[in-house]
Amino acid sequence: MFSGSFLYDNDAEGAYPPSYYTESAEPLKPFAALEGSGSCDVCIVGAGYTGLSSALHLAQRGYDVVLLDAHRVGWGASGRNGGQVASGQRKDQESLEDSLGPEAARSLWSLAQDANALVKSLIADHEIDCQYKHGSLHADHKHRYVDSSKAYAEKLQRDYDYDQIRFVPKNEIGELVGSDTYFGGTLDMGAGHLHPLRYALGLARAAADAGARIHERSQVVSYKNSGNGKTVKIKTNAGEIDAGFLILACNGYLDDLDSRIASRVMPINNYIIATEPLGGDRARSLIRDDVCVSDSRFVVNYYRMSDDHRLLFGGGESYSHSFPSDIKNFVRRPMLQVYPQLRDVRIDYGWGGTLAITGSRMPYVARLSDKVLTACGYSGNGVAMATLAGQVLGDAVDGTLGRFDVLEKVPTMRFPGGRRLRWPLLVLAMTYYALRDRL
Ligand SMILES: Cc1cc2nc3c(=O)[nH]c(=O)nc-3n(C[C@H](O)[C@H](O)[C@H](O)COP(=O)(O)OP(=O)(O)OC[C@H]3O[C@@H](n4cnc5c(N)ncnc54)[C@H](O)[C@@H]3O)c2cc1C
Repeated sequence: MFSGSFLYDNDAEGAYPPSYYTESAEPLKPFAALEGSGSCDVCIVGAGYTGLSSALHLAQRGYDVVLLDAHRVGWGASGRNGGQVASGQRKDQESLEDSLGPEAARSLWSLAQDANALVKSLIADHEIDCQYKHGSLHADHKHRYVDSSKAYAEKLQRDYDYDQIRFVPKNEIGELVGSDTYFGGTLDMGAGHLHPLRYALGLARAAADAGARIHERSQVVSYKNSGNGKTVKIKTNAGEIDAGFLILACNGYLDDLDSRIASRVMPINNYIIATEPLGGDRARSLIRDDVCVSDSRFVVNYYRMSDDHRLLFGGGESYSHSFPSDIKNFVRRPMLQVYPQLRDVRIDYGWGGTLAITGSRMPYVARLSDKVLTACGYSGNGVAMATLAGQVLGDAVDGTLGRFDVLEKVPTMRFPGGRRLRWPLLVLAMTYYALRDRL
């Protein structure tokens, strides 16, 4: 029975989900739960990429950091996602130019480039063995989208001096992806893909090594400003912390912890399956150059090969709170639309995760009060952007506001309908777009 908590209702408490990622990563030794009372400079709630990156960067600067997670480090979307490290924001540069003006659009592009560079430098600096590979293919499933893909690649080359992307015509896309469902697309060698849980665990190890105090199985149940306004008092299920600053990095798992954030971000579940190992030759017949692929559907299909040649295929969003009872079959359907030749293949793993979207599909980065900051709502584009946002929140705590201001200025609307109605309204809107996609 779903009680309305994304933090608990779809998963076992304190345990990583039964995913391919869990099976192919070495968990860290558990961090003890917070007990009793204490204090710190900065308390961070949520140990996904946002919280881990904040903790790492703040601890490196000498801040006394306490990082709390209700389950385990990397337990949330950060340990379950498609691993695709995209270039740019979730919104394309044309839409950003139209809605925010060319200057803001340019700043957001360069922040996204910083985000990709940050991921690569963290992997190198902390020797994180997360199998990063270059290349991301965007594939158009409708002929009518191909001209705009071509124009967009040319725009990035021309207006943003970005030479890593190129147009891929119909005859070539059929060679890159062993499927006849695509009409063209773009190939971006500045983007890439990685093992998301290994990346999260590497960040956690680096944060702990830098001195961050990590506590798992420590759910924050409430927080309030202290009487003198100088600290924030944070309560967990078994302890409390007085902190100079609080960073809320809960993303799709926020539940009711903060109503201001909850009104601007919407949790959505998404699912991935992993096939049995296919062997090198069959893997190359599906994705020739080991790049990751995402397609132009509203409910995006995104896929790539694992190191041991399994197809990791994500898709089949559902607009209910709870995961489907048979995730493997739920995602197998869109997989077979793309690759009917995989009908004979066994599906070894199927899992779900909760992400957070905003109305604008741009991250929600905000100072909620003098001492409380948040970043979330990456709308499916969080591997790099959440890593960057964590660093940017750290900068803001430290008094450097340049990049924080750029992100905070991006308008994010409240979802209409209030707490009770916003979910059914979203379901209606999403179902409409998903239907339109099939026309
Ligand atoms: C199935 C799936 C596929 C995706 N694919 C991609 C992709 O290919 N590329 C991409 O860029 N993005 C992708 N995303 C999105 C990306 O994973 C997220 O944007 C990113 O991981 C967000 O990181 P985060 O740290 O903000 O949140 P999370 O990783 O979700 O971490 C939030 C943490 O907060 C903790 N928490 C919440 N409330 C509390 C509380 N009260 N007390 C203590 N702890 C709490 C949770 O336990 C959780 O560990 C995908 C997401 C999903 C679910």
